[in-house]
Amino acid sequence: MSLDTSSNRPAAGTASGVGDGTPLVSIRHVSKRFGNGTLAVRDVHLDLASGEFVSLLGPSGCGKSTLLRMIAGLAAPSEGSIDWPAEAGGKPGEGRGLGFVFQDPTLMPWADTLSNVMLPLKLRHVPLDEARDRAAEMLALVGLKGFEKSYPRELSGGMKMRVSIARALVLRPKILLMDEPFAALDEITRHRLNDDLLGLWWKERFTAVFVTHSVFESVYLSQRIVVMAARPGRVMADLDVSAPYPRDELFRTSGDYARLCRLASGKLKEAIGS
Ligand code: ADP
Repeated sequence: MSLDTSSNRPAAGTASGVGDGTPLVSIRHVSKRFGNGTLAVRDVHLDLASGEFVSLLGPSGCGKSTLLRMIAGLAAPSEGSIDWPAEAGGKPGEGRGLGFVFQDPTLMPWADTLSNVMLPLKLRHVPLDEARDRAAEMLALVGLKGFEKSYPRELSGGMKMRVSIARALVLRPKILLMDEPFAALDEITRHRLNDDLLGLWWKERFTAVFVTHSVFESVYLSQRIVVMAARPGRVMADLDVSAPYPRDELFRTSGDYARLCRLASGKLKEAIGS
């Protein structure tokens, strides 16, 4: 279902070098049942195209995080499969292929911001000078130039989240998985981070999968919204949000945005009531 008609979706496949329309991730009839019997996800069947911005929208407990963790390889499906058809060996390139941002920034409190962002590079034995340069460059990209020597306790919630995003992007992953990263932030900070995330996505052209329960956030950010329902967690709608980018304050206050939010909200209500 399309929420708007003026399509300006960047051609799928251009961002990660897969130009033939092969999906980056193929989720095939995936279900997840936990050991206690909870069916967290039932029969999810989706393709994620290279370079697209997708939100997983749904109420608490509908399996958004479980699905995200399965895409990341942090949990295994009980049924079905998750494949990476464009990647050698069907896996996301030795861990370099994906970055993960959690709701909590999960920074090392004893290390400064530069060292926090350098961690994934150090773990991959990137030479120290190169790691330092790459981490500093990524910190500048997320707007934290000048804060390299600051410790997490000296940073605001929004700044900590920026460090967390820089750490997830420092390996220049093909896909960035985000699990309600801005949920704990105040609205103004959240709006700024939404804008900056879109700027990063536009520049770096990773595939973005963003978990949220906010209709407003999902419409503002995404090209596509996958609406999920709970008990059991399942996909109820796959919405195309083809409003043009760049999106900014003008879009956020436009009639178009309000209309798109109303439509997505209606789908979410249907999902909750189902
Ligand atoms: P969401 O991210 O949409 O809030 P989750 O994926 O966290 O939903 O959870 C989906 C369902 O699976 C919930 O009912 C939750 O209680 C259950 N669940 C999540 N993780 C586990 C687990 N490790 N063991 C048992 N049940 C779980």
